[in-house]
Amino acid sequence: MNIAVVGTGYVGLVTGACFAEFGNDVTCVDVDAEKIARLAQGIMPIYEPGLDVLVAKNMQAGRLRFTTDLKSAVEQALVIFLAVGTPPKEDGAADLRYVEDAARSIAEFMNGYKVIVTKSTVPVGTGERLRRLIREHQKKRCNFGVVSNPEFLREGAAIEDFMRPDRVVIGSRDEEAIAIMRDLYRPLYLIETPFVITSLEAAELSKYAANAFLATKISFINEIANLCDKIGCDVHDVARAMGMDNRIGRKFLHPGPGFGGSCFPKDTRALAAVARQYGCTSLIVDAVIEVNERQRAAMISKIERLVGDLQGKIIAVLGLSFKPQTDDMREAPSIYIIRGLLERGASVRAYDPVAMPEAAKVLPEIAYAEDEYQAVKGADALVFVTEWNQFRALDLERVRQLMRAPKIADLRNIYEPEKMRELGFDYVGVGR
Ligand code: NAD
Repeated sequence: MNIAVVGTGYVGLVTGACFAEFGNDVTCVDVDAEKIARLAQGIMPIYEPGLDVLVAKNMQAGRLRFTTDLKSAVEQALVIFLAVGTPPKEDGAADLRYVEDAARSIAEFMNGYKVIVTKSTVPVGTGERLRRLIREHQKKRCNFGVVSNPEFLREGAAIEDFMRPDRVVIGSRDEEAIAIMRDLYRPLYLIETPFVITSLEAAELSKYAANAFLATKISFINEIANLCDKIGCDVHDVARAMGMDNRIGRKFLHPGPGFGGSCFPKDTRALAAVARQYGCTSLIVDAVIEVNERQRAAMISKIERLVGDLQGKIIAVLGLSFKPQTDDMREAPSIYIIRGLLERGASVRAYDPVAMPEAAKVLPEIAYAEDEYQAVKGADALVFVTEWNQFRALDLERVRQLMRAPKIADLRNIYEPEKMRELGFDYVGVGR
């Protein structure tokens, strides 16, 4: 099948490469000419494990190409995926500018029946809105189907998630479009992936509801962790006892500095905006957002309690990306925590295995180290913000000797408190 993917960010690039791997003919389009030029040379714009190899393999096989020429991509494709960004507006609602711009351009170039699929996370009603918009902007009158096919992949495990998803959601009222989508996802039928075929609206809402629910689990366990801090018991024991109940489940019950990334913060706010638009309340989601904001602030106070007056202190920060295995810095907790430390007069020396080039764009005012040990040298405290695997087995004796004061705030609970205290660290975790 011939496919066009519009937008070559985390989602578009993975979608394009994976559909090419399934044997389809894929053209990835972006308005960012520099990104496209680099991709055409096999240079990845993002860090995502395995993506470079998958892209190179499919480019070599002639099934995957990159272009800024939307016209020829649209003319050749039967299925066109929209995978452009949907960032938050001032009021939290999703900004549909990029989705609508892309849809208008697609409409102009349509030369026959097309299936237009939104993979971008969009508010309820967007599919119908795109249908009208495309009708209005078509130069040549052609039939088309509109589909919502939300993406649930996780950055850092995106290829595995795309190839082995828990489910595929396809929302449409166009039978022909649904049949084409089923055909496209046939390789996943073979591994018995469940499919949810539903209305456009239910598909659109399912993405926001799923992300808001996961964010709720995180904010919930963070609130319990803060209570554990006061009580003096271990939140990991509480989370384990809770998670063994199959109705609750073990995942997303790990306390930390609050959720970040390009999805949870924006999608919770966008869901609250959708609720407002329909005259409904969103009490739970509103609370999830507030708990998350407070959690970030609480981490700064935690560090301040550990170190004392932060003025003139050197703080080593390990981990900058919003989670391990990615270089994505969008709404990373590290940004808020580091800015809080700087405002209180501290200087920060940070290290991250892959995110430092991205981090330097948002945090130009801090120093970056070559490795963990250079980061902690002479530091008054060490703060773990992202739980990269390579931070789990540091030479702690060496770390202690290098630091000016052996103080650690472990915001991801990477280490065992007792062991750290035995090693001579003044150590705090989250909820233990
Ligand atoms: P991104 O910002 O990494 O990439 C978006 C790309 O679209 C950019 O390269 C941009 O240049 C391009 N673009 C913008 N307007 C365009 C146009 N008119 N024509 C062609 N290209 C255009 O975004 P992302 O993280 O891949 O997210 C895309 C969508 O997928 C968002 O709605 C997001 O909420 C959703 N989503 C993201 C993830 C994730 O983990 N990143 C997971 C699931 C869903």
